[in-house]
Amino acid sequence: MTNPVRLGVFGNPVAHSLSPTIHSLFAELRDERILYDRMLATPAYFPKAVAQFFRNGGSGANVTLPFKEQAAQLANILTERAQVAGAVNTLMKVGSGFVVGDNTDGDGLVKDLNSKGFSVSGRSLVLLGAGGSARGVLPALLSLNPAKVYLVNRTLEKAQVLKQLLVDLSVLDAENIQVVSNANSINEQIGAVVNATSSSLHNMDIPLPGRFTYDAWGYDLMYSDTPTHFLKQLEKAGVKNRADGLGMLIEQAASSYQLWMGGERPDTTFVMSKLRAKTY
Ligand code: NDP
Repeated sequence: MTNPVRLGVFGNPVAHSLSPTIHSLFAELRDERILYDRMLATPAYFPKAVAQFFRNGGSGANVTLPFKEQAAQLANILTERAQVAGAVNTLMKVGSGFVVGDNTDGDGLVKDLNSKGFSVSGRSLVLLGAGGSARGVLPALLSLNPAKVYLVNRTLEKAQVLKQLLVDLSVLDAENIQVVSNANSINEQIGAVVNATSSSLHNMDIPLPGRFTYDAWGYDLMYSDTPTHFLKQLEKAGVKNRADGLGMLIEQAASSYQLWMGGERPDTTFVMSKLRAKTY
């Protein structure tokens, strides 16, 4: 029997991470052998921990808070979408030495939006937040041809910097992004809103656009067993179609798994039902 493929996730904290469960379910589904560990590190120790992991036979790793930006500095090569994001959630050893950094967050969000029938094309879209995850998902959202994109961040400068970065990298339609510091200043009906801030983490209200279309949808990158604070805000605002980020988490993991293990993309519906029902 061959040795299991060594994988894992770096983070701090990392004990709560669902990634080991998700990847083990993918491996079970595809009848493959993996060993997927949680790896706690400190920012000072992170570079050494990564080097050690790959030296000791690691094939691939996920990276979560707070190491995504640091991982982008460490990787020998970055994929285009990781360069744009300036953040890496997937590391992968290629050949005997090189470590490639990729970012599958945008891909994961788009796959989950598609599976829920949440269309972006032709809609006015609001993206709340300009942190690590917003950087990962914005180019992917732009590629879906929204009619207009409002990038909203309470620290306006961070949103301006993000827009400029995308313009400099010639990301399609980046020059049409409208940057604002408060969503309730948007004077237009909004058809889609994505929360990439950590407002739900702190159970805090976040300003919403004043008007939504009748068929608008809203998505919170954060996920929870019960509706997140942001999803409750959307319900009050009359937005009927809502989802949290559990699907994105599973889809971005499927993209990572496929990068490491090759072959077909793992089936995510089975994993989604298991995680929602907590039967794993
Ligand atoms: P960052 O720390 O990089 O960015 C945080 C962002 O949230 C900033 O734009 C910050 O604004 C804003 N923010 C924080 N608190 C508030 C508030 N009370 N009101 C308004 N804005 C606020 O975090 P990430 O981008 O990495 O993560 C954001 C969220 O996305 C987290 O909840 C995380 O769990 C989730 N996530 C989910 C994933 C999934 O697969 N489902 C993947 C990645 C992230 P400012 O710049 O002004 O400080």
